[in-house]
Amino acid sequence: MHPVSIFWFRRDLRLNDNAALYHALKNSKSVLPVFIFDTEILNDLEDKNDKRVSFIHDTIKSLKIELENLGSSLYVLNSTPIEAFKKLCEEFSEIKAVYTNHDYEPYAIGRDTEVTRFLKEKNISFHSFKDQVIFEKEEIVKPDGSPYIVYTPYSKKWKEKLDDFYLKSYPTEKYFTSLFQTNPFYFPTIEEIGFKKSNYDIADKTPDLAVIKNYHKTRDIPAINGTSKLSVHLRFGTISIRELVKIALVQNEKYLNELIWREFYMQILWHFPHVVNQSFRKEYDLIEWRNNEGEFEKWCDGKTGYPIVDAGMRELNQNGWMHNRVRMIVASFLTKHLLIDWRWGEAYFAKKLLDFELSSNNGSWQWCAGTGCDASPYFRVFNPYIQTEKFDKDRAYIQKWVPEYQDPFAYPEPMVEHSFARKRAIEIYQKALK
Ligand SMILES: Cc1cc2nc3c(=O)[nH]c(=O)nc-3n(C[C@H](O)[C@H](O)[C@H](O)COP(=O)(O)OP(=O)(O)OC[C@H]3O[C@@H](n4cnc5c(N)ncnc54)[C@H](O)[C@@H]3O)c2cc1C
Repeated sequence: MHPVSIFWFRRDLRLNDNAALYHALKNSKSVLPVFIFDTEILNDLEDKNDKRVSFIHDTIKSLKIELENLGSSLYVLNSTPIEAFKKLCEEFSEIKAVYTNHDYEPYAIGRDTEVTRFLKEKNISFHSFKDQVIFEKEEIVKPDGSPYIVYTPYSKKWKEKLDDFYLKSYPTEKYFTSLFQTNPFYFPTIEEIGFKKSNYDIADKTPDLAVIKNYHKTRDIPAINGTSKLSVHLRFGTISIRELVKIALVQNEKYLNELIWREFYMQILWHFPHVVNQSFRKEYDLIEWRNNEGEFEKWCDGKTGYPIVDAGMRELNQNGWMHNRVRMIVASFLTKHLLIDWRWGEAYFAKKLLDFELSSNNGSWQWCAGTGCDASPYFRVFNPYIQTEKFDKDRAYIQKWVPEYQDPFAYPEPMVEHSFARKRAIEIYQKALK
């Protein structure tokens, strides 16, 4: 058997404009594409009907077919990454190098350190590339080299630094002849990886240009199709960030700003990994959360008696997605009205969101709770009624998800009165911060 190089797919599930795949194909004669269903991650998912696993399974199957049309295939493993590489070393007598794209989450950094160490012992080199962001790590920092913790100056610097170099696509297709040629490999069923097939409803990965063009006018109205719904594709890399930024630059600056928020939170997580378990501002960890489990359950189930909150939670529970405006409302309600620790809400979203992304989820929860880097001030307590008046004036969104909201026999009373809850939240926050 000829020596091979491995290309390891992770959160970059596409063949086009893929940085590490391009470098692998360009530098090797025979590139074996690999995907690992990582049992370290999958074993922690309680719900065996997880929509994300079905989405990944389907996406991997399509990638495998694409590769088979090119005379290659995709080698799929179901184990820990270390066990997977041990198996690959047994199956392929000579592996020269492993190529992959950077992943900035704490678990991924530990995993890659362990894999690199293992490969080094076997004399196999490990090459990792920037792919899921335009700018990473220390690329956008203050003049003194420290990270930005406020979005506006970060985004200003981001825009100043951007040029054609950072947006250039990686033309992988020029080198597809370097793919390892083989008969199709085995593909495990979803049951074999311990899950059940689950239905999901995910927008197409082709950006809707009309939506992006009008984004600044429509983005805050949850009842209409006014946002791009590309978050899941960005999360799993089924679209390229470079392609999307090129579109945003032509179509809509407000949309570009949202893509920059994504990178802002990624670099916050990279520079300040303590945010995974603690408040960005440590003094906020002194807040005396009420953490009432019964109230938390009502919030999760969409039975708070606040129609806009309940509509959002029901959308999340049913579709694994929630409109951004409503995510802010429900997060503010949980942390301020109910004084429940933002980590509880963050964990619930992590379980349910198809687009769950540690950096954005953590950053946004801390923003809403007021504990984060560039956060909403603690005394800003969203009034769900005013939010409804502004963003769901004719109640179309509420009507869709909470059709019984006007029926006093079917719909509960508000679980807590707004003015009372607002005053209580401000007092508890003030007590912690004095
Ligand atoms: C409490 C809370 C939790 C969140 N958790 C996540 C999460 O786990 N994963 C996630 O991708 N987004 C998260 N967001 C951000 C935002 O709500 C979603 O990215 C957005 O709703 C996805 O829908 P879209 O693709 O139509 O977004 P669009 O409005 O079309 O925006 C385009 C893209 O920009 C990025 N983006 C938009 N808003 C934000 C933001 N505030 N922060 C970071 N990136 C943003 C996303 O990648 C999004 O796909 C969260 C927001 C809140 C308030």
